[in-house]
Amino acid sequence: MNLRPESEKLFAEALKYIPGGVNSPVRAFRAVGGQPFFVNRAQGARVWDVDGNEYLDYVGTWGPAILGHAHPRIIEAVRTAAMAGTSFGIPNPLEVRLAKLICAWVPSVQKVRLCNSGTEATMSAIRLARGFTRRDLIIKFDGCYHGHADSLLVKAGSGALTFGAPDSAGVPAAFTQHTRVLPFNDPEAVKAAFAAHKGQVAGIILEPVPGNAGLYLPQPGYLEFLREITAANGALLIFDEVMTGFRLARGGAQERFGITPDLSCFGKVIGGGLPVGAFGGRAEIMDHLAPLGPVYQAGTLSGNPLAMAAGLAALEELAASDAYAKLEQLGAALEAGMRAAARAAGVPMQFQRCGSLFCGYFTAGPVRNVSEALASDRARFGKYFHGLLAEGIYLAPSPFEAGFLSTAHTPADIERTVAAAGRVLAAL
Ligand SMILES: *Cc1c(COP(=O)(O)O)cnc(C)c1O
Repeated sequence: MNLRPESEKLFAEALKYIPGGVNSPVRAFRAVGGQPFFVNRAQGARVWDVDGNEYLDYVGTWGPAILGHAHPRIIEAVRTAAMAGTSFGIPNPLEVRLAKLICAWVPSVQKVRLCNSGTEATMSAIRLARGFTRRDLIIKFDGCYHGHADSLLVKAGSGALTFGAPDSAGVPAAFTQHTRVLPFNDPEAVKAAFAAHKGQVAGIILEPVPGNAGLYLPQPGYLEFLREITAANGALLIFDEVMTGFRLARGGAQERFGITPDLSCFGKVIGGGLPVGAFGGRAEIMDHLAPLGPVYQAGTLSGNPLAMAAGLAALEELAASDAYAKLEQLGAALEAGMRAAARAAGVPMQFQRCGSLFCGYFTAGPVRNVSEALASDRARFGKYFHGLLAEGIYLAPSPFEAGFLSTAHTPADIERTVAAAGRVLAAL
């Protein structure tokens, strides 16, 4: 029986007019086989496809939906803002409120510039780091994704887990010649790079908890090491917290791990489901941006009241509730349940978690970097993904994506997920 005839029709139509039928590649299900379903409604932790099937959603629009979908506070804020006009291109009070709130929650951020996506935030932060230090070289890590700006699209995780640099056609080698890619969690590689490029490194950019090749954690002392070696070499430490910001704690991964970066990038959660990005840091660095300084950065829709209202509503709701404690409890329950389920089924799985982010790799070995992640069994993940989908549970359609919990998930949702996963794992 075909459960998704309407989705199939729409996908056939989409393929005619949109390359691959999707507006962002991982959505196409290429990593797991089959076809994507089309959704026309979402509420709380659930989404419904155009055929009326319901799914318990662990993607949460890839991170923004930390309060679940269509949270009433956000919907109301967006409705109110829209009635007063969607964009002015003139300063508005809401952007001041959101900027102030970001600075209050993330102490390393003294000033912040708002933009429209995570990609814009990281691209601009890199430009700023180069302009501020008057150096060209950037160090990034294999498997860390920082959006799709040219100079950062090298060994960039899930969307492009193939080898060879640069990762994408259309990026001239000259555009990435000032980007060095190193393995994550390997201090010696970083020491060697600084030794080889004395006085040339503008900064290191990283996801403090990499979540774009599945999910793996910084080894104890690693983030501290990066903080020290960048400071010692006059280079900036740039935390890309587009995924982790306002999710792993109010102050993001930097609060959770007690590290003070020079610059930070945000997106996802701070937009409340609308397109928002932000980058910020020490005032002395941020003041190098135009109109105060020589580093150019701009945006027609940057700071628009609709997006600001959604972001503010999301952050204020997070502040007003015990969201982070709740997410931690849900995460711990899922982790314990999934580990037990994998053990009972005799399936080697590394279930890794940090707060409300998680990933189960089908491998017996530890996963601390992207090469270890790539050792996982992708065919097995494909079967697991489709098994859970048949149970009405939606994970990201790739073995190299994190899962996302929201405050709309309940302990009963977790129990149901663990039970379903137990059945699927046993049948693998
Ligand atoms: C999603 C993501 C980005 C890109 O953000 P977009 O809004 O998709 O442009 C950058 N960095 C990290 C860590 C991300 O997870």
